[in-house]
Amino acid sequence: MDASLLIIGAGPGGLLAAWAAAHRHLPHGVLVVDRMSTPGAKLAVTGGGRGNLSHLATEGEFAAAFGRFGRFAIPAFRSLSPEAFRTLLSRIGIPTTVDPDGRIYPRSQSAPQVRDALFAACQHAGVRFAFHHGVETLSPPKTAAAPWKVDSFSTRSVLLAAGGQSAPRLGSDGSGFALARSLGYEIVPPVPALTSLRTVETWPSSHSGLSLPDVSISISGKPAASERGEWLFTHRGVSGPAVLNLSGRVARRLLSEKEVRIHLDLAHGTPDFRRLRQAEGTRTLHSWLARQLPRALAETLLDLAGIPKDLTFSRLSAAQEKKLAEHLVALPLTIRGTGGFDDSMATSGGVSLKQVDPSTLEGRLTPRLHFAGEILDLDGPTGGWNLQWAFCSGYLAGMSAAP
Ligand SMILES: Cc1cc2nc3c(=O)[nH]c(=O)nc-3n(C[C@H](O)[C@H](O)[C@H](O)COP(=O)(O)OP(=O)(O)OC[C@H]3O[C@@H](n4cnc5c(N)ncnc54)[C@H](O)[C@@H]3O)c2cc1C
Repeated sequence: MDASLLIIGAGPGGLLAAWAAAHRHLPHGVLVVDRMSTPGAKLAVTGGGRGNLSHLATEGEFAAAFGRFGRFAIPAFRSLSPEAFRTLLSRIGIPTTVDPDGRIYPRSQSAPQVRDALFAACQHAGVRFAFHHGVETLSPPKTAAAPWKVDSFSTRSVLLAAGGQSAPRLGSDGSGFALARSLGYEIVPPVPALTSLRTVETWPSSHSGLSLPDVSISISGKPAASERGEWLFTHRGVSGPAVLNLSGRVARRLLSEKEVRIHLDLAHGTPDFRRLRQAEGTRTLHSWLARQLPRALAETLLDLAGIPKDLTFSRLSAAQEKKLAEHLVALPLTIRGTGGFDDSMATSGGVSLKQVDPSTLEGRLTPRLHFAGEILDLDGPTGGWNLQWAFCSGYLAGMSAAP
């Protein structure tokens, strides 16, 4: 027997699982196998290298951040809450800070340092590592007492923490989904999430680099969705936190629809045109709009609404008022693509939650196989939620896999 527990993937999920399991002193120890040359290649670049490791939240807020199936994450959250995780990190020499929005970072502002400390803690606890090994086959035990075969390794239990499909250059290339599928697990079709969106309209690219601090965006139809926050125009479309947080849902729609319409609310509600007519009568719409929005965007907006730049409020017709209001509160954009997996920070979709027990993260189809992290069909917004999920699910799965 090569190991009591073999973990596929040395990302945040796999490292926490290994660390937790190693403290159970299993007879054949814990072995972590990864296709990359180092552990936590993705972890080391998170948060722009600063590592937004977690988010201070109650379990209700945590579940809500993960949407419709968020309650699945509660047992993992209870096993390692953000506060408990901060204590764990400080014990291994990584004190943390919390920003005003609740985002947790290492005090050193160094994600590579977090990765190194977790790796060292695992080694100190006796975990063995095999790098440069991409697992290709998983064979379940033939009898209750028989071991699992993982390529040529034999092990009592397996923990699949191979991540999703995002940023494959950092290790997670979707091969974990293929391994789970080979055992009969249903894979909810993976799509890129936390990624930019490509617009059919070309006008956004003429504002490339321009950001708006607070806009609302929505997609109508079923299921409807909306996000509020910062928005960024790029050379191929749109990005920024509000777009990133909506992108997974747009990408899923694009699996069955050629195009998805999103609407942008730049004004947070229709302006009071009657009051504006009285107060701003002789002022041009452009000069008023340029006080609400960047000047160039104000000009584009008037163009799109078909309103002359030098029109004054006193000459604004009812039809023009309606058009302008529509463009301010529901500016339509047509999305035909996303930044793709290469440019995404998370994967939406993965191993179906129906086939995994949330209280242990053990698969329901096979004995002694656990899951952790992004390989499961759960993804959250930007802000440290995805790493918190990877860490706490790794912790719970590691504890459950090493009774
Ligand atoms: C650029 C970027 C920035 C991000 N910033 C943040 C942030 O600041 N905060 C946040 O919360 N989230 C952030 N995320 C998301 C976060 O990094 C992931 O959600 C998290 O890393 C998932 O952890 P994981 O352990 O499940 O998977 P991964 O971190 O993807 O680890 C999976 C591991 O499995 C290995 N592997 C895969 N297949 C195999 C195989 N067949 N055989 C052997 N090994 C295999 C991979 O090499 C990899 O090491 C960011 C993501 C990216 C891409």
